[in-house]
Amino acid sequence: ESLDQGLQKTKEGFLSKISKAIAGKNTVDEEVLDNLEEALVSADVGVDTTVRIIDRIEQRVAKDKYMGTGELNRILQEEIENILVEAPSAVSYTFDGEMPAKPYIILVVGVNGVGKTTTIGKLAYNFKKAGKNVLLGAADTFRAAAVDQLTIWSERVGVPIVKQEMGSDPAAVAFDTAQSAMSRGSDVVIIDTAGRLHNKAHLMDELNKIKRVLQKFVPFAPHEVLLVLDGSTGQNALEQAKHFTAATDVTALAITKLDGTAKGGVVLAIADQFKIPVKFIGVGEKMEDLLVFDKHEFVDSLFS
Ligand code: GDP
Repeated sequence: ESLDQGLQKTKEGFLSKISKAIAGKNTVDEEVLDNLEEALVSADVGVDTTVRIIDRIEQRVAKDKYMGTGELNRILQEEIENILVEAPSAVSYTFDGEMPAKPYIILVVGVNGVGKTTTIGKLAYNFKKAGKNVLLGAADTFRAAAVDQLTIWSERVGVPIVKQEMGSDPAAVAFDTAQSAMSRGSDVVIIDTAGRLHNKAHLMDELNKIKRVLQKFVPFAPHEVLLVLDGSTGQNALEQAKHFTAATDVTALAITKLDGTAKGGVVLAIADQFKIPVKFIGVGEKMEDLLVFDKHEFVDSLFS
């Protein structure tokens, strides 16, 4: 799906809330600001980020100055865009560009059900399409379904996968995967990990162990720790981001399931509140439905 299609529900909710908030108003008074604040919070932009946006509008617009709805809308769009522009950007690679390392190793983290496996499949598809040799590693050995799902994706996309039986040591799978990547000359390695959050120390230990194993083969690996978040859970996604960033050095975010939800405003909250770039967004279940996140396009799409 395209960005516009993918964000359809969010757009409808967002725009209708905003236009209600400023309907019939031609000055920026307390009431307008309160309405806007309410509209943004209910569009899942999150309280902190909403307050920042409202503060900026307040600073920018003289109180009670005459202003048409169109102009107010434009100022809101600009301030939302400014918030995103100040958030960290992800420009370290593109699918068809040269990778910063070979093999380039991506460790994927996130709780079950957020779309982790699907995102890995979509990434594999994009890298493969760009002519790269991709290898998958099934280090989420905790659930049989996770390995099965990843195997299905590897077949669908046509990329090899390294796996062991369920319950085996994730670090051992990481070892096999890295070894296989070296002998195959893989360009990109994507490793799935178990997303148990109930025990932060355990999660931390497991990820650290995987990192140590990878570094036996490739210095500075993993080059990316990609946290997958389910955008349709709104503020829950923010909570998960807090937990994972506390447990490991997450370097990039993927926000999935933005199609079919009106909670896409959470992307603004996540981009604003974590010093970690949003790199990808998921807008459907198919392999083509992963988009590289572009701040300007995203805001344009919300307001168009
Ligand atoms: P995992 O448990 O985190 O690995 O989650 P899965 O990758 O198995 O995805 C869980 C469900 O969400 C599946 O039914 C996927 O098809 C679906 N899914 C994943 N990403 C997206 C997305 O961007 N949009 C939609 N609509 N569904 C998605």
